[in-house]
Amino acid sequence: MSFQMYVPTRILFGAGQLNNLNIQKMPGKKALLIISNGKSVRENGSLARCEEQLKLAGVESVIYDRIQANPVKTTIMKGAEAARKNGCDFIVALGGGSVMDASKAIAMMATNDGDLWDYVNGGTGKNLPLKNQPLPLICITTTAGTGSEVDQWGVVTNEETNEKIGCGGYDSLFPVIAVVDPDLMKSVPPRFTAYQGFDALFHSTESYISSFHSVMSDMYALTAIENVGKYLVRTVKDGNDVEAREGMAFANTLSGVVMTVSVTTAEHSLEHAMSAYHPDLPHGAGLIMISKAFYEFFIEKHACDDRFIRMAQALGMQDAQKPEDFITMLVKLQEA
Ligand code: MN
Repeated sequence: MSFQMYVPTRILFGAGQLNNLNIQKMPGKKALLIISNGKSVRENGSLARCEEQLKLAGVESVIYDRIQANPVKTTIMKGAEAARKNGCDFIVALGGGSVMDASKAIAMMATNDGDLWDYVNGGTGKNLPLKNQPLPLICITTTAGTGSEVDQWGVVTNEETNEKIGCGGYDSLFPVIAVVDPDLMKSVPPRFTAYQGFDALFHSTESYISSFHSVMSDMYALTAIENVGKYLVRTVKDGNDVEAREGMAFANTLSGVVMTVSVTTAEHSLEHAMSAYHPDLPHGAGLIMISKAFYEFFIEKHACDDRFIRMAQALGMQDAQKPEDFITMLVKLQEA
């Protein structure tokens, strides 16, 4: 029954919620508005809407549009330099996991000297303590997968050492505001909708079988898994199905919170090693590739049979009775 929980992020959740950003208290006067190096937020109008909101809120913004999928250290260091050079006192991340994760690392390096890897805890990171508070951050997610808008971690790649590791973890890296507006997700193509949806699912399934689970993380995880079971296939089939997009967005944000109360297990670490060497591999796709073997391992060891049965039920098999039923539901969902 015991757990610790701290999620200090104001969440604006639901279709149309981006329109309410301008009436929130802004954490600064000039934002570095961080987006990906692709075209999507310019083409689908999200960037213009976001700029409009910031203008209405009375803040200036400067765009940094260099973030690649699986963001690398060099891009982050340049982003931090852009924040300093332009005198930005907060960061707005508009995008998916790569943009939001890179933004957290940029928030750290905009106010601290040295190299990002000085502060990374793990691998060849030097694990030095942060001297200064990171810049405050607003996250506007355009995907339903990463949950990064409600946590204090960013996963980044060091292209010199082929390491892909979570960095941050500081209370001060929780976004002050998260906008989770399914209207911004309508133009995500079916393939990526599926990859991202499975990322959200695995944040919850890994955390549900983790020995760090608690009554609190279980509550979030099971509801997230249920929502993935109900809505992922619908969302992939019709990206304009707002109810389904909203259900997946909900699963995504709940799964983000799950990772702050419990923790993901080895499936995520294994995938990070894969996409560290293969930057073109989308995170969700890598997770899908190893998922069946990963969960079968724990089922064969009878690590937590009752938990697998409960997850099979949450995915929609109401009469699930054996742990293998989870694999059946997982494979069925992947085929669909
Ligand atoms: Mn993930």
